[in-house]
Amino acid sequence: MTKSFRVGRIFGIEIEVDYTWFIVFFLLAAALSMDILATRLPHLSLGMRWLVAAFTTVLFFGSVLLHELSHSLVAKAEGLTISGITLFIFGGVSKMTDEPKSAAAEFKIAIAGPLMSLLLAVLCFGLTFALRPMPGGTVFAVVFGWLGAMNGMLAVFNLLPGFPLDGGRVLRAGLWKAMASLADATRIAATFGQALGILMIVGGVFFFLIARDAGFLWLALIGWFLTQMAQSSYQQVVLRQALSVVPVSQAMTAQVQAVPADMPLDRIVNDYIMAYNHPAFPVLDGDRLLGLLCLADIQRVPRETWSHATARDTVPPLTEQYVIAPQATAWDALIRMTTENCGRLLVVEDGLVRGIISRTDIMRLMRMRMQLGV
Ligand SMILES: [Zn+2]
Repeated sequence: MTKSFRVGRIFGIEIEVDYTWFIVFFLLAAALSMDILATRLPHLSLGMRWLVAAFTTVLFFGSVLLHELSHSLVAKAEGLTISGITLFIFGGVSKMTDEPKSAAAEFKIAIAGPLMSLLLAVLCFGLTFALRPMPGGTVFAVVFGWLGAMNGMLAVFNLLPGFPLDGGRVLRAGLWKAMASLADATRIAATFGQALGILMIVGGVFFFLIARDAGFLWLALIGWFLTQMAQSSYQQVVLRQALSVVPVSQAMTAQVQAVPADMPLDRIVNDYIMAYNHPAFPVLDGDRLLGLLCLADIQRVPRETWSHATARDTVPPLTEQYVIAPQATAWDALIRMTTENCGRLLVVEDGLVRGIISRTDIMRLMRMRMQLGV
């Protein structure tokens, strides 16, 4: 996902909004104001129409958030870690780092979102009828009528049986239960997801050409996005399964050179980074490990001070995000690698550096295992 910013925290779940969300916010508000509100409420002034459109759009995104929150809360109840929810151009995603532990858990997590959307749809339609007779009620009736229809559509669309849509997850849960294999279930459910995506692309373009309505291009775009997601989520499941049985000790590069704490940066660049062609080295103060020094850390120091700034001054403090145990799995290592630790982890046991592990190390091992067929 691209750049996003944090808006708050609900039930311990971080809520983030991606910048692409603003595009949708504006498009939706504009469509509402110029299309539905203009025809259904012609007596409203232009300014008032935009105000109502903005209010409605906020409520709509509130609905999307409630949908995602339902998934997240059920997932938490099932013992999964949810790192947050991000709202972006195609709606919302809950960031789960683990897969559900059983088919039943997967089913409950998947169905929670569409059930919430259905509930909201019923609630909105109820409000439509309740508010219509009141003074100024026609405005609310139009707003909640639209919100009801949108939530209904959200529920129906998400229940389509293509992974990773909610309906595809329900399908995967069923297949998982029947076949007792998460990888096989994911492969089939993801194939459904790709087929559904292609159908949406073809259908979207076809109806756009016939009806000349840009809304169909949106459908095609979502279809394209779905095929990409189906493909990558299947690859992730396969990768995860393969990496979950490989210990870090098997994939890491052992016997790494360490940089002495008092060495100045210019010598580190010449004698270590350039000489060994590695972007990161552990820093040792005698026997004591100070941390992992990355090329990016050195780049943040002004070049004219490289001759007297030392590794000790530059290395970031050794926290959990830089280290992993040799017994941990390669999958755990892959998840912990970020740009902050330059995609590398120190493999540490009893305070001693046993090696360094990078993405390249893991991929090299996987390629080898694949060639050997093990
Ligand atoms: Zn959902």
